[in-house]
Amino acid sequence: MSTLLISHPSFLDHDTGEYHPERPDRLRAVLKALDDQAFSGLVRAEAPIATREQLTRVHPADLVETILGVNPPPGELVNVDADTVISAGTAEAIQRAAGAVILAVDAVMEGRVANAFAAVRPPGHHASATLPGGFCLFNNVAIGARHAQARHGIERVAIVDFDVHHGNGTQAIAEHDVSLFYASTHQYPFYPGTGSARERGIHGNVVNMPLSAGSGGEEFRAAWADGILPKLDRFEPELLIVSAGFDAHRRDPLAQLNLEAEDFAWLSRELMAMADKHCKGRLVSALEGGYDLQALAASAAAHVKVLMRL
Ligand SMILES: [Zn+2]
Repeated sequence: MSTLLISHPSFLDHDTGEYHPERPDRLRAVLKALDDQAFSGLVRAEAPIATREQLTRVHPADLVETILGVNPPPGELVNVDADTVISAGTAEAIQRAAGAVILAVDAVMEGRVANAFAAVRPPGHHASATLPGGFCLFNNVAIGARHAQARHGIERVAIVDFDVHHGNGTQAIAEHDVSLFYASTHQYPFYPGTGSARERGIHGNVVNMPLSAGSGGEEFRAAWADGILPKLDRFEPELLIVSAGFDAHRRDPLAQLNLEAEDFAWLSRELMAMADKHCKGRLVSALEGGYDLQALAASAAAHVKVLMRL
């Protein structure tokens, strides 16, 4: 069975302005890497627009309408916070970014593909139900998790997050709901300030493994192997969703962890093994951060190669 790659040209039309690290070239770099002959086995699809029903499983309807209604004229940007902006192309991009994860969930749950990678932007893991921020408007992975539960009768969904920043938005959505599990490694203390090991959710369904600046592959692998994977195993998810951010790479300009592409590949293999054990292999991965184009492209390619079992 194959791996599905979902993207859409509209993701390039979310304009963040000059000098913003979360820029269209990020996605171009990822898609160029996945254009290589080695990835000819990927099944490719365009991201659909998520419906209001799908978006409002996570975000209140008035927030969805407010964000989608901003719609500035071409060339103008509206700031949501200091580093989160809305441009003319944003509304379509964010509806399709959520739609990409929903299509990934549908394809995996219906057994049409083994697993899927949603190459999207903007990212989503800093968006809580009611508060966008940190480059994120809608929480793509949480919308995918709720869709799996509402549409496919899945009870337990695990979201694991290896982006260098703590996924405060996803945690806020998951921490009071025992049907969700959220686990993260991230640089700490660091933006957005959350993600201490003491934050554990209402039934231990949140696992945070903070890493000090300067940590590398050894600390990262130990955090997953000893801290997160045993608890993920006990949660027995029926679907595994990955917040795949590649900004913990040593080349990344926004953070100070020292991972290599091979560290992302290692974790991807561990997560595939967990999905095989509990989820009939069902794994959906969605792009979050990653701001050095070369590191992002190489790391995303390494991740997708593991999904394809190459
Ligand atoms: Zn990040």
